[in-house]
Amino acid sequence: MTSVDTVVRSAPGATCAPDLADGPWTFDLAPASYGPGASMADPIPAEAPRQGVLPAAYTQMSADELDSRIRAAKDTLGDRLVILGHFYQRDEVVKHADFIGDSFQLANAALTRPDAEAIVFCGVHFMAETADILSGPQQAVILPNLAAGCSMADMADIDSVEQAWAELEELYGTAPDADGKVPLIPVTYMNSSAALKGFCGDHGGIVCTSSNAETVLRWAFERAHRVLFFPDQHLGRNTAKAMGVSLDAMPMWNPRKPLGGNDEQSLVDAKVLLWHGFCSVHKRFTVAQIEKARAEHPDVRVIVHPECPMPVVDAADEAGSTDYIRKAVEAAPAGTTFAIGTEINLVQRLAAEHPEHTIFCLDPVVCPCSTMYRIHPGYLAWVLEGLVDGRVENRIEVDAQVAGGARVALERMLAARPPETR
Ligand code: SF4
Repeated sequence: MTSVDTVVRSAPGATCAPDLADGPWTFDLAPASYGPGASMADPIPAEAPRQGVLPAAYTQMSADELDSRIRAAKDTLGDRLVILGHFYQRDEVVKHADFIGDSFQLANAALTRPDAEAIVFCGVHFMAETADILSGPQQAVILPNLAAGCSMADMADIDSVEQAWAELEELYGTAPDADGKVPLIPVTYMNSSAALKGFCGDHGGIVCTSSNAETVLRWAFERAHRVLFFPDQHLGRNTAKAMGVSLDAMPMWNPRKPLGGNDEQSLVDAKVLLWHGFCSVHKRFTVAQIEKARAEHPDVRVIVHPECPMPVVDAADEAGSTDYIRKAVEAAPAGTTFAIGTEINLVQRLAAEHPEHTIFCLDPVVCPCSTMYRIHPGYLAWVLEGLVDGRVENRIEVDAQVAGGARVALERMLAARPPETR
């Protein structure tokens, strides 16, 4: 199967943003947007890290030359290096990874290599931060392109969350009731900055992934009357709805409006306050795409990621994390037809690995996660050859105090168990 990168470069008309074909070095310099692709309309926060100009040699090398330079650097570094590749990463990068997975699986995979001096995370910024929080102090976590952020994670910044928290504390108070339940607990999705994970750790809150969001919400409801859930409204809404929370009890919190754009009574009646954030990749999926897939393939099994909007999740057969999707494909009887609603690199890789099935992406337009796409092999070669020369480029280091709070929130998540396993 033709790789996503090859399609982007050779048939730009088939993609959501033809200028993706220019490669990341032309749009890394753009000051105000995430660059071409699904996320281009979202503003980049002023404090987001910027990538310096990649040495020209790396932008001019052929794909084969980059490939052999990466392999050579990897061989030289041996066990001193571990490379992590996210499911949504392009094949030309992922093939060099020692581990492939979602963000939390990868951070945990790095823990199995405590002797590695360098952890090169081929994902996005918040993932590298999480790896730094969980790795040893002697290990350097490296993000090959500092401009590889996540538009969803950037939709909830620490200042806006602290402002929201102050308004809500004034409304609800902070005192626990007779059963010891507090008025509100913060829950952050793994796809958030370290500062927000630290905020949750410091305020009795917790982190969740798309695999354990329901377990985490149950944990929170045992301790609080309400949850402030950020940054992804869709994961929060889809999860709480499946648990029986009514939509009326899930007001949206818009950080640009007083009281998040709500009246006091709806906030008092709320169970889950949903931050106004979303993934630009997953919001592209529609009910019409599902209807078309069903019309063309009557036996199709439709699986979508819970970052998709609620009507899409409701219209699908199943919704689950990247790991859920991968396992569902592996476990299906040969000959199953899957229409999958998640990032194109993962869908195409599953299709290539499982020729016994028919697997296609719900979205007919090739639209990779444009921030993940910034990890071009040129950047990977640059950071690896830097390590060979004794230079650590693009190290991601989380402030010690923030990391302490974030670790507390992550440990609470690891300790939270579904009721049946207690
Ligand atoms: S797919 Fe969406 S949530 Fe994941 S890194 Fe890309 S923009 Fe962020």
